Amino acid sequence: MTGRLDGKNTLITGAGSGLGRATALRFAREGARVAVVDRDIETAKAVAAEIGPAALPLAADVTSRAQTEDATRSAIGAFGHLDAVFANAGISGTGTAAETSEEQWDRVVDVNLKGVWLTGRAVLPHLVERGEGVIINMASMGGLVGIAGIFPYTAAKGGVVAMTKQMAVEYGPSGVRVNAICPGTIFTPLVAESRAARGVPGRTDEEANADAAQRFPLRRLGEVGDVAALALFLASDEANWVSGGIYTVDGGRAAM
Ligand code: NAD
Repeated sequence: MTGRLDGKNTLITGAGSGLGRATALRFAREGARVAVVDRDIETAKAVAAEIGPAALPLAADVTSRAQTEDATRSAIGAFGHLDAVFANAGISGTGTAAETSEEQWDRVVDVNLKGVWLTGRAVLPHLVERGEGVIINMASMGGLVGIAGIFPYTAAKGGVVAMTKQMAVEYGPSGVRVNAICPGTIFTPLVAESRAARGVPGRTDEEANADAAQRFPLRRLGEVGDVAALALFLASDEANWVSGGIYTVDGGRAAM
């Protein structure tokens, strides 16, 4: 059976859970080798075990330049080279502009914006040397439209949107494609944590999800596979003239 990523070597940050995990499993099913990077090595190992010999679990906190560079070096050492990198790791961030503390801002921007930059920064010299490669940056619907109560998160994701265009312009001439993915709500630990922090009382997850689904034109929340499918397309050779794009996968929500 041929896969859409046969022979490709990939690296995914935040691959121990949620969207990163689903994408790691999908990439592997499509024939890729996957460096499963997470700050939580136990979850990275668990996902790598699900994948089998095509996976390499690696510990790295994307806010650390040294750790991000080490992980990239280890993946290149093990696989020989990298073709595609998905800078997916992220955390929730709640509060309005006036409520957000400097500490919250620093933490959320550090992971969600600086972490994406450091991941790109670590791999770009390698991709430039090869004259080809793909970077996929995880943004959010919240990087495109305002969503009340998650100010530091949307600010960081808006930065990822701008940074993606910037990287695409800077590195297109070297053969590197850079795109961003902007998902709507998919119920993962990150969303559960964000809801808990905003203190939505007296509702089960199912009730909260059913309510949230009504805010999307397609009247459902996303599935992790919806995002993995878009990442797969962007990582594959089918997208070989696709760069600088900001792609929603949000049931139509950002169009409202
Ligand atoms: P998740 O919490 O299920 O997974 C996030 C993973 O990232 C975890 O395994 C965590 O350990 C890891 N991580 C967190 N900080 C890290 C760091 N500093 N270094 C390395 N790894 C780190 O969340 P998810 O919903 O799968 O989110 C993945 C990405 O998708 C995030 O960037 C998030 O902002 C984005 N996103 C999610 C949604 C959604 O609705 N779930 C919507 C839009 C965008």
